Amino acid sequence: MSRADWPQGWGDLYEPMSVCPRCPELVKNRTQVVAGDGPPDARLVLVGEAPGWHEDQQGLPFVGPAGQLLDQLLRSVGLSRSQVYITNVIKCRPPQNRDPLPQEVENCRPWLEAQLARLKPRVIIPLGRHALVWFFPQESIARLHGTTRRREGVVYYFLYHPAAALHQPSLKRTLEEDFKRVPALLAEAAPAAPDKPQPEQLSLF
Ligand code: SF4
Repeated sequence: MSRADWPQGWGDLYEPMSVCPRCPELVKNRTQVVAGDGPPDARLVLVGEAPGWHEDQQGLPFVGPAGQLLDQLLRSVGLSRSQVYITNVIKCRPPQNRDPLPQEVENCRPWLEAQLARLKPRVIIPLGRHALVWFFPQESIARLHGTTRRREGVVYYFLYHPAAALHQPSLKRTLEEDFKRVPALLAEAAPAAPDKPQPEQLSLF
């Protein structure tokens, strides 16, 4: 991603992130930091695990085969990538696509926290186990997929990671089924129209 594609006014966040030195092994192996992609006013944020080879090369999240599946899923519910913000728990590709180390997740935590503080999304979808436990430690994606939680005005909706679904046809079917609920969650989380206050609904958030 070039600087020209950074969200307007986010240079003070993306600039230091793009040269982040916190994880020496990742810094040594990365082509570039993959900060995230999407409009700064997105109501829906999807959070994956870590950049893979394609993402590392292009500087964009979810552009490999898992990203193509995610695009398909978004299209299947009438959404496009231009409407959502996509990022990962860690912003640099682990060598050989290994799992992120706990220390790397902690090192990177302030970046994702800063992104979410700016985005103020209504709905967050953690994709897969690593993203789930970033938000809700000790939880299991096998148990929580397809369910929601509400916390501090945000609806969390848990889905399997598209990369896992690519390797297991049964998970892919589950992910496709679970994804169908996304538009309803977005509609439910939308703020009430100013001329039609809905105090009961607002009190949920
Ligand atoms: S993974 Fe995150 S914390 Fe680690 S070097 Fe990359 S941007 Fe920095």
